[in-house]
Amino acid sequence: MRKQFPYKLLTQKMFCCRCQRVTDHGLFAREPYSTHGGMEPKIPLLCSCEVCQNIIVCFSNEFRFGASEKNAEYTKIYGYNRITPGNWLYFKGAVKPGLVKSCFQTRDKEIYVLAYGAKDEKVECPKHLVNSEESPDGYRLLPVQSALTLIGDHVYHAIRDMFGVAVGFVNDGEKDKLVVQMNDNSLLFITLPQVVQNLPNAKLSDMTRNKLMQFFPEESRHVSITVGQGIVYLDGLVKNLSVKRAIRACVNGMQRARGCVDFMKIRAESYISDEQIEKSILSLLETPGLRVFNYKVQVEQGRVLVSLGCIREYFPKEIESKIAEFPGVQDLSVKIDSIPMDEMENTKVCKELEYELSVNSRLADSLIRVNYVDEKYLLEGKVHSLIQKQLAMFCVARRVLSTSIENRLRIV
Ligand SMILES: [Zn+2]
Repeated sequence: MRKQFPYKLLTQKMFCCRCQRVTDHGLFAREPYSTHGGMEPKIPLLCSCEVCQNIIVCFSNEFRFGASEKNAEYTKIYGYNRITPGNWLYFKGAVKPGLVKSCFQTRDKEIYVLAYGAKDEKVECPKHLVNSEESPDGYRLLPVQSALTLIGDHVYHAIRDMFGVAVGFVNDGEKDKLVVQMNDNSLLFITLPQVVQNLPNAKLSDMTRNKLMQFFPEESRHVSITVGQGIVYLDGLVKNLSVKRAIRACVNGMQRARGCVDFMKIRAESYISDEQIEKSILSLLETPGLRVFNYKVQVEQGRVLVSLGCIREYFPKEIESKIAEFPGVQDLSVKIDSIPMDEMENTKVCKELEYELSVNSRLADSLIRVNYVDEKYLLEGKVHSLIQKQLAMFCVARRVLSTSIENRLRIV
């Protein structure tokens, strides 16, 4: 499986079941993602122990990456964090944390007004200067927040009065547990609440099969399902990328599945070359009436990259799903730069030129778009000969009296 995850994102301290201790784990993904500023959820990551090479699969949303999310329910601890209104604040020994409504200081005291549910409370405590914070965003309070805790989260165990870091999830044969390494290096295994316990394999497998049968009655017959630890592994052959994405989204949408690892491949009915794929995408982009421009298409072994500009008011909503249905497309990334109509320049001239070119009898059967992009006139579309391509260029140059013209007309 390691080969299917070629890109190493980072190294993370995690608990290894085989080594029975916390070791460095390499986190590998199937695409070269960046973890700066967080990651999309549900992306499978292969975690490999750097001591014994034991591997497990986790998902991007099970890790604490980079910047903390808003409302992520981290709690600040008095004496260990700097506090501002809006934070959750916990005093050691208290029953629960409160939401800080205001805080102010006198010469020797700090005064907080906290909301505990519906009731406000004023708390006075000695002034405590926090010079360095181990976890500036706060902590997960254990054991109550065990279900929310992510790998890499700093935690505070209220009963034991100890700090630590979450290092993974394990199953001891009966229950799923959160593993925490405390600051004295001891390990704590906290049983997760029933609602987040993984479903038994047979049950999750049946649920997935039924769901796919319901939504993809034809295609799902060619898909095999394997489950383990709440993860659904999909394999088999499907019709096109569009179906592959839809099946994956369907499984990822199942509440009780942790996520899905998609090994499905796209059926190659007959061989389709990258050039053929590129041509069909370009013809789609050159559909009359579609207001797109500055488009680029790259295809390499069925992996497609498309970038294009469009007028916001005419956003081509369906372009991505249409391309995903093309046979031979294995992977697809579409980047659309949408520009509001009133920010487009020289639209009147461009429109007049388009009209002029469309009625020119020597350019019959061609499709030519003219837009002013990046301080130049851009000619895109298709003609049938080099003479037509030069003629279109000539017509535009004569009219706009400018040398900034780029002629990207294709000869088909
Ligand atoms: Zn190991």
